[in-house]
Amino acid sequence: MGEQGSDGGRETEKPTEKAPVKKKSTASATGSASTSTTAKKGARAPGAAGAKPAAAGKPAKAESRTALVRRARRINRELAEVFPYAHPELDFENPFQLVVATVLSAQTTDLRVNQTTPALFAKYPTPEDLAAANPEEVEEILRPTGFFRAKTRSVIGLSKMLAEDFGGEVPGRLEDLVKLPGVGRKTAFVVLGNAFGRPGITVDTHFQRLVRRWKWTQETDPDKIEAAVGALFPKSEWTDLSHHVIWHGRRICHARKPACGACPIAPLCPAYGEGETDPDKARKLLKYEKGGFPGQRLNPPQAYLDAGGRPAPPLDAA
Ligand code: SF4
Repeated sequence: MGEQGSDGGRETEKPTEKAPVKKKSTASATGSASTSTTAKKGARAPGAAGAKPAAAGKPAKAESRTALVRRARRINRELAEVFPYAHPELDFENPFQLVVATVLSAQTTDLRVNQTTPALFAKYPTPEDLAAANPEEVEEILRPTGFFRAKTRSVIGLSKMLAEDFGGEVPGRLEDLVKLPGVGRKTAFVVLGNAFGRPGITVDTHFQRLVRRWKWTQETDPDKIEAAVGALFPKSEWTDLSHHVIWHGRRICHARKPACGACPIAPLCPAYGEGETDPDKARKLLKYEKGGFPGQRLNPPQAYLDAGGRPAPPLDAA
């Protein structure tokens, strides 16, 4: 997830294959919509005949702080059931690979980064290797990710700094990480959260859009959003919360056409109706595993595969 958003904010990004797999049932395509806590508590599945999202149309100012905290936490719990396998969507085997992949993900998709990094890390497995690389050779490898000259400068520059100032190791402190070329707060939080287990909120383009739709905050500045949303949740939940929100934004609550009619948290969403409410039409808008398509990682975690998710194709097969 780069500084401009791991999907680059480009909701036009489509899965690279057209529904090649066995078709999933509606219930499975929308994750645990049918088994979510909403369902358990008796709310009808969104999009079901007669379903009336409870929060739709309610003015946000009528909601107390306590009610907001409860609703926000309930949304996160629901999303945890819909995406129990949520994980960082960049392939990485160590902190060095994660920080490089995260820098590369600016203005492109995690899928494209994942299709590009195997060749990069095969040739330059350590910071020392990449620090000593011929920039033109790195540019050729990184070309598919876009902005490849600037990205080459960043990853060689950060590798040099890691090799010279940090003993070849990625530092586990925010103040050190943001000194690395191409690394801002968002990239640093991705690395801290996913390579070091330190809680952090990743305010990317999806996160910003969804928390606004859910009226969790009116802030527009990413740092202020981070603080406002962070205050709604225990710190220990921040990293998973970020995954849940971003996964929901990538698969269901899209920028231009949110799939409201297939959304498992519609009863909790003040923006229900902003997108397609017809269940059949909404289901066709679902992406990645929720739509029966491959995911973004070439090497996803086992939990994702166990849930029926499929790996992304390598670059030459895309
Ligand atoms: S898809 Fe629709 S109902 Fe679901 S969270 Fe997004 S705007 Fe709300």
